[in-house]
Amino acid sequence: MKKDLIRRIADDGEASEIEIEELLRCGGDDLKALYAAADRVRHEQVGDEIYLRGIIEFSNYCRKSCDYCGIRGPNRAVTRYRMGIDEIVDIAGEAERLGNTTVVLQSGEDVWFTGDRICEVIRGIKRKTGVAITLSIGERPYDELVRFKAAGCDRYLLRFETSDRELFGRIHPDDDFDVRVQCLHDLKRAGIQVGSGFMIGLPGGTVGTIARDILFATALKLDMIGCGPYLSHPDTPLSQGPLLEDREMYFKTLSILRLLNPRAHIPATTAFDALFEGGRDLVLTRGANVFMPNVTPQKYRALYQLYPNKPCVDEDSGQCSVCVMGRVARLGRTIGTGPGHSGLQKDEK
Ligand code: SAH
Ligand code: SF4
Repeated sequence: MKKDLIRRIADDGEASEIEIEELLRCGGDDLKALYAAADRVRHEQVGDEIYLRGIIEFSNYCRKSCDYCGIRGPNRAVTRYRMGIDEIVDIAGEAERLGNTTVVLQSGEDVWFTGDRICEVIRGIKRKTGVAITLSIGERPYDELVRFKAAGCDRYLLRFETSDRELFGRIHPDDDFDVRVQCLHDLKRAGIQVGSGFMIGLPGGTVGTIARDILFATALKLDMIGCGPYLSHPDTPLSQGPLLEDREMYFKTLSILRLLNPRAHIPATTAFDALFEGGRDLVLTRGANVFMPNVTPQKYRALYQLYPNKPCVDEDSGQCSVCVMGRVARLGRTIGTGPGHSGLQKDEK
């Protein structure tokens, strides 16, 4: 039984790589104890509020060729779209009306959206709404990050994807692991709250890789940790990537992250719903405290498939917002009302 180990890790917020591997392999009653501990730490440290961060997938153009991603540049099967600046600002306003206190602006690495244009989007949204803004647009140079911050950008999501630099190199023909990590440090230096994370179960990884990914994410002292299952997309070089044999490992990873990062924001990412019925609700009871409703207009949704079986492609934003309110109520939790800034920065809470 690993109950003592789980209790100790929950109390200390620390674990070794070997201990994390042990937890990743646990089952039965230990599994229940791990999920319960993660839920308790979440309740005690970040409370029962679930923050809504509406995600706007504003462009699926991408200059990069990440081996796992359905909208990678070379995928000719994708019909490309790009929203206009005013359109994005209007959608952010709609997202606010639907209860989102943050909008997450996500896209491929689209060169049309220069630093100036992104700043225009940020300023437009800040003029018309009170929402916090998270960018998720890939790697950008430090001087642009500084300008994004000056324009009103609050947070930035950039996953390191895997802490195994050899694996990172193999699946990122355009990227360098050190540059990715430097970009995360640059974000911090620019005064932007940083979110990062990894894909759980990338082909070529092992249980040990997941343990090291958990430790790497923890060492970065992130404001937000976003992780989700890796799901193979048929039109990519990694199309043969199988799912993890132990499906619970996806959830165990999130729970362990909560124990080691008690005050971080941890979203129930969309990919959990692609893999499990009610997957996001389950994650919210196993350590997560953030939900990211899709507020992309319905006509674009099917074109933004990073992975197959993406949920909610036939719904519109109104339907998604009704759905999320129901989910939160059924869990006995409440919707977060403030901007939900980083729990690491106490004065902002
Ligand atoms: N272009 C930006 C944002 C869009 S991609 C960027 O790369 O940061 C957002 C995230 O989607 C990536 O960080 C990756 O972790 C995830 N993703 C891409 N393809 C995926 C797949 N096949 N399965 C699971 N997650 C995937
Ligand atoms: Fe482009 Fe991001 Fe997909 Fe890589 S993960 S191909 S950068 S959209």
